[in-house]
Amino acid sequence: MHGLVWDGDALSAVDDLEVREPLAGEVAVEIEAAGLCHSDLKPLDGDIPQALPVVLGHEASGVVVACGPGVDLPPGQRVVLTVLRTCGVCPACRSGRPTLCRRDPGGDTTPFLRHGAPVHQFVRLGAFARRTVVGARQVIPVPDTIPAATAALLGCAAVTAFGAVEERARVTRGESVLVIGAGGIGLSVVQAARAAGAGRIVVADQNPRKEDIALRLGATDFWVTGTAAELAALAGRLSPDGFDAVLECVGRADLLAAAVEALAWGGRAVIVGLPPTGTQVTFGVRSLFHDQTLLGCRMGSVDPHTAIPRLAERYLAGELPLDRLVTKVVPLSEGAELVAALRAGELDRGVFSLEGAL
Ligand SMILES: [Zn+2]
Ligand SMILES: [Zn+2]
Repeated sequence: MHGLVWDGDALSAVDDLEVREPLAGEVAVEIEAAGLCHSDLKPLDGDIPQALPVVLGHEASGVVVACGPGVDLPPGQRVVLTVLRTCGVCPACRSGRPTLCRRDPGGDTTPFLRHGAPVHQFVRLGAFARRTVVGARQVIPVPDTIPAATAALLGCAAVTAFGAVEERARVTRGESVLVIGAGGIGLSVVQAARAAGAGRIVVADQNPRKEDIALRLGATDFWVTGTAAELAALAGRLSPDGFDAVLECVGRADLLAAAVEALAWGGRAVIVGLPPTGTQVTFGVRSLFHDQTLLGCRMGSVDPHTAIPRLAERYLAGELPLDRLVTKVVPLSEGAELVAALRAGELDRGVFSLEGAL
């Protein structure tokens, strides 16, 4: 089987990856499209611990090809995958807060094998392969009418961004929003802020190339800023009373501090980017004195089983132009090039297409 394997030195497209059949409570999914997210770079850069070799990829869509005992999904069903391998029965899961599920349902043996040795599965998903095996609660049925690449975005960038704006920051009509970082998630945050009716949507990024897409997706202002000091000066100039919501989509300590310090009275700052393990943040704590809030956010802090189908409906109704984010669609054999393009800031979202692969 075709897959992309990271061994600590090279990212190689291979054809001799093996995948086992699904066990009880599992589903085999044939991947059609998988987005390359900044979080996939974390194991490449050693920013998070990861056993090697590994199949990366965690933002994907595909079709069900086989179910293990106890799972009943029709073969051919189009699905979006989620990293949330939750139990489904604890109070957090039952109340629609699966990101707070603390019960590990187990089953963390990798389904992949190569040359008789295990190949690990990134975040129990491993989507950069023609076929993967995941827990039944990691697949979310969506209509067939959504293009595969767009459906993939629903699994990470879109669900995270819309959750961060609608459920965490709770942006309401007319509010001012500052978005720090215009990668795939930051640009999705812009779309979500626009959909929420935000008045002013200011985007700050160090890459001037992002201006055009940010404005097309609904930003009212785009500013090139490289340092936290520049960002603080910009925020003070544009909105002296602060912003109602600030979404930090980079995962950098100095930018997160600037985010908190840019809040209006009653403002909400959301940590959307994933800072490296061990990151410490220092900010003036009086910045929270006037009822401001600093919020964590894991995968949008929503239930993907309800949030993803709703986003799919909104996309199909023409409300959310999610596919404008997809800059490049390439086969897995161009994996190293797509990673280089992401690092060079050339992509809004790069997506691997696996349709037709063996
Ligand atoms: Zn992601
Ligand atoms: Zn649970």
